[in-house]
Amino acid sequence: MELLTIGAFAKASRLSPKALRLYDELGLLTPARVDPVTGYRRYAPDQLDQARLVAWLRRLGMPLARIRHVCALEAGQAGQAGQEIRAFWAQVEADTAARRDLATFLIDHLSRKDPSMSPTAKSLGIRYAALSDTGLVRESNQDTAYAGPRLLAVADGCGSQGAPASAAAIDALKHLETDSIPAGNFLNVLEDVVEQAKQAVHDVAGTGSASEGTGTTLTAMLWTGSQLALVHIGDSRVYLLRGGELFQITHDHTMVQSMVDEGRLSPEEAASHPQRSLLVRALGPGADTNPDMRLHDAQGEDRYLLCSDGLSTVVPTQDIHRALSEISEPEQAVRELIALANASGGPDNVSCVVADVLELQQ
Ligand code: MN
Repeated sequence: MELLTIGAFAKASRLSPKALRLYDELGLLTPARVDPVTGYRRYAPDQLDQARLVAWLRRLGMPLARIRHVCALEAGQAGQAGQEIRAFWAQVEADTAARRDLATFLIDHLSRKDPSMSPTAKSLGIRYAALSDTGLVRESNQDTAYAGPRLLAVADGCGSQGAPASAAAIDALKHLETDSIPAGNFLNVLEDVVEQAKQAVHDVAGTGSASEGTGTTLTAMLWTGSQLALVHIGDSRVYLLRGGELFQITHDHTMVQSMVDEGRLSPEEAASHPQRSLLVRALGPGADTNPDMRLHDAQGEDRYLLCSDGLSTVVPTQDIHRALSEISEPEQAVRELIALANASGGPDNVSCVVADVLELQQ
């Protein structure tokens, strides 16, 4: 086979010689032959496909190590190279979604400072109830649920220290009930609070093999008087009932949800997947603890439900919707939701917090 000079190969692949030299240095595309005396690089015509693939993956923004991996797969198992690109892109989209949330948060947050944007709305308040139950199968309750005048939270612990872990995570937030939070400082306060919760869970988990698997989800909302600041890690959920419709406003940090996002699993398959509770983010040693954070504008007559997966896994969404629509008192609503979970076998601990946004009389 006739080898091509770098110039001819550059022309044929529509890459610059400079790019080709870079790919060589990075180990992405090694010339077929390098002249030991002159150092001139020569390429085989059948390297063109790989050169184009490298160029496309670079345009996609794929990191170099991952490009190397895709090229190796492409040489061996072509089907898997496609899967690797799909997985990479799903991750890009998930990261973008998280950045979009942060951007929304910042826009909301900065807009507060602009008097022309400040709401002329009536003053709002919340009423709330929390309830947690062991369920019918588990021996102990590792969930923790809390509702107070400013803080709503659900945590679902796992591992040998699951119960103290979920309790510690929520205890670490409780100072928000009384602290005065300077306006315009919510973002930092939320970040600090997650850091404190993380530390509290680590303290509970301890070190060594006993700590393995100990962790907790944490889904919490802080009432600011007109907004709910949301912090979310794991697979507990927040639903919003507004205008008669029910919306899930959190995204599960589970393996199966990632696979659904990547198009590798349908939502139906995910619901019955044996490893559906496997978390990709949680508070605990060795876990990805990066939270989703958002500032959510509340409206009069909004109803929020925070729940652990012990509810959402076994009670169909339409039944949750119906219970939230038909029962007016939060205390009664949380009791009914837990009764629904237990009527479906109560396989897991189940926790619910219901909070109603009310327009206050002035
Ligand atoms: Mn659970």
